[in-house]
Amino acid sequence: MENSKELRTWLDDFKLSHPLVIAGPCSAETEEQVLTIAHQLKDSDATVLRAGIWKPRTRPGNFEGVGALGLKWLQKAKEETGMLTTTEVANPHHVELALKHDVDILWIGARTTVSPFIVQEIADALKGTDKVVLVKNPVNPDLSLWLGAVERLHTADISKLGVIHRGFSAYEKTKYRNNPEWQIPIELQNKFPDLPLILDPSHIAGRRDIIFDLCQTALDLNYDGMMVETHHTPDKAWSDAAQQITPETLIQIMEDLKVRKEIS
Ligand code: PEP
Ligand code: MN
Repeated sequence: MENSKELRTWLDDFKLSHPLVIAGPCSAETEEQVLTIAHQLKDSDATVLRAGIWKPRTRPGNFEGVGALGLKWLQKAKEETGMLTTTEVANPHHVELALKHDVDILWIGARTTVSPFIVQEIADALKGTDKVVLVKNPVNPDLSLWLGAVERLHTADISKLGVIHRGFSAYEKTKYRNNPEWQIPIELQNKFPDLPLILDPSHIAGRRDIIFDLCQTALDLNYDGMMVETHHTPDKAWSDAAQQITPETLIQIMEDLKVRKEIS
């Protein structure tokens, strides 16, 4: 993949302030939940609302998302708040539905990035569109697999690309749900400095209390933004409850990051 400046241009349209902040629940649960969170975020630094509609759960039997119905809620949230929207797509059918409902940014999840066949199908389904696509790192610490997914999209003429660092799974339990392995995104950034790099502190942490520190590290490393799971009643969330923070906490974290930056 050539190192094209074009890769960065989309960022300006989505980033009203630096860094780009994407926030919203792990999963869209009900219309009321999506709209409540969107309204609580609308005057924050978050310019893009996230919500998972199709949820790839590692083990069966957990909540697997509300499906296409949730896309209407995202659309309504966009109309009411002016926020842009993003959701995960894991196959060409998801892409088709997300395009139909005017989702602004599509992201490819960690369990999809590991599969070149599916990534290729998604890339083919996106051909000819000018959507922004963010590629999460694969669950396993494999830079080539991550880059390979980006290259497949780039080859399908998707030029508005970015990557999301969500940490890497390890068999031993550490303080992280997924180890950050900061050297891997740094290597990617060195190879492709024009590819926007976004931190997902929520899936790295798996808990609330280290979200701030992870965001701080990302800013110190010149990341372009972050995607933070945010819920109005995090403890009652239908997925990833332990790591979600309230919109109020997100606003406080952003303030604290700014104060730190001014001091340093
Ligand atoms: C998510 O963003 O809610 C998600 C399922 O993420 P990941 O693909 O990083 O596990
Ligand atoms: Mn999640």
